[in-house]
Amino acid sequence: MTAIIEFKHVDKYYGKLHALKDINLKIDEGQVVSIIGPSGSGKSTLIRTMNGLEPINSGQLIVTGHDLADKKTDINKIRKNVGMVFQHFNLYNNHTVLENVMLAPKIVLKRPDDENRKIAMQYLERVGMADKINSYPRQLSGGQQQRVAIARSLAMDPKVILFDEPTSALDPEMIEDVLEVMRYVAEQGITMVVVTHEMGFARKVSNRLIFFDQGHILEDRDPGEFFDHPNTERARQFLSKII
Ligand code: ADP
Ligand code: MG
Repeated sequence: MTAIIEFKHVDKYYGKLHALKDINLKIDEGQVVSIIGPSGSGKSTLIRTMNGLEPINSGQLIVTGHDLADKKTDINKIRKNVGMVFQHFNLYNNHTVLENVMLAPKIVLKRPDDENRKIAMQYLERVGMADKINSYPRQLSGGQQQRVAIARSLAMDPKVILFDEPTSALDPEMIEDVLEVMRYVAEQGITMVVVTHEMGFARKVSNRLIFFDQGHILEDRDPGEFFDHPNTERARQFLSKII
């Protein structure tokens, strides 16, 4: 197994706040990792360090073979390989759905327009948005915007997609459509790291579960075993509140 993301003794501070504490974590190609834990525990910080959105203060973080702490590392090379899907979609509001999906491959990958359009259409069809290609983000529901955001990520042909609570801002009836698309991504063999409150997804789709608390990894295990028999009192408390 080749590690696609590796943290070695990583620490991260916001001023005096110690947000990530001695993180050691190896994620292999093709793994689908769910990260759960209390609000404010550092889950977003952890995932945002993986594509350089948050710098680390010490330790080593290697992503798709590049050392993120090395000043010589070109962050754009990493972002070609690592997609990110946010809670609040982050589509370009002044671009249509199709343009949103075509933009990064055109600019970053210099992919020719006709091929780019074909690939964008394929993914927009796959996420059920082919009939909305000329709409603008504001004309779409949250669930539809999130499916476009996932298509946009897929169009870059990434090795890894990071998801930070992709369904948390959605109305309940839209969550299932987005989860269905995420299951599809998992089936493609793309490595996924997913911060989520969807315990069904964490248990059934992911093959690894990380329980995060106060800047630490408290449990890192098979999801089924974690949900049936959490090892730590913190995890038991957490699960008793949400399930
Ligand atoms: P989670 O995603 O688990 O809710 P976060 O990673 O967002 O946790 O936050 C971890 C801790 O770091 C919290 O105490 C939060 O207030 C703090 N924090 C997050 N982002 C920043 C920031 N940009 N500046 C200062 N503190 C931050
Ligand atoms: Mg968060």
